[in-house]
Amino acid sequence: MGELILAVATGNPHKLKEIQAVLSPLGVSVVTAAKAGAPDDFAPDENGSNFEENSRLKAVALMKIISGDMPPCVDGVIADDSGLCVDALGGAPGVYSARFAEGPAALPNEVGRKYDGCKSSRLTQRSDTCSVDERNNAKLLGLLEGVPYEARTARFVCAITLMTSCCRDSGTDVMEAVCLGECEGHIAYGPRGGYGFGYDPIFIPDGCGERTFGEMLSDEKNAVSHRARALAKLYDVLSASDLVDVK
Ligand code: IMP
Repeated sequence: MGELILAVATGNPHKLKEIQAVLSPLGVSVVTAAKAGAPDDFAPDENGSNFEENSRLKAVALMKIISGDMPPCVDGVIADDSGLCVDALGGAPGVYSARFAEGPAALPNEVGRKYDGCKSSRLTQRSDTCSVDERNNAKLLGLLEGVPYEARTARFVCAITLMTSCCRDSGTDVMEAVCLGECEGHIAYGPRGGYGFGYDPIFIPDGCGERTFGEMLSDEKNAVSHRARALAKLYDVLSASDLVDVK
């Protein structure tokens, strides 16, 4: 088979760009969910209990929309669910990473009480002047106030689900796979850098000096990121399946 074209079940342009950057040199092209026929407001419920479940929910939702009427240019879908797990916060924000600033629901009791006790501080920044990412970062940094560097360990986690449905002379090949990638690091004392998105300005990946992801060019982040690692595993699955030509 020649080039594989996958629709990505995300509305996040940063994720799309990172996925594109990692997969395109490998001969896999990606298109937006909208281009594959999903409505502009495509945002499936993420009520799974872990990254793998949520990523599969998104892939199934997009597959449902486009199957039956799958444009001939699309061979399948991939979905990314990802987030940041901080050891000192019992793994929070985890699957609640995108909506962390909305409330303490994702926090273990002890940390939730700390959050309730300091709602008037910079933990809760004004939603009319700060972006969601800024408020998430401010809340996380506030909860880690007083925590020394060695105890600020954290990891980004990314689950990528692939679902393909390819018509061949011999029939239709259907494949489903979930790949997990992780990137270990530390939470900085304050935000640094203007690249990337989400928690990038406060995450210092291990083995890359003292810079945060927010201070790294996309190529540098893509060399070590949780997303790139999950995508590398995905590519191994694809190569073994004969769906793409190994370069
Ligand atoms: P999702 O759309 O439910 O997967 O939300 C993932 C959330 O986790 C994003 O909104 C970000 O806050 C955070 N996140 C995931 N991956 C990254 C990354 O590579 N850099 C920074 N933040 C990330």
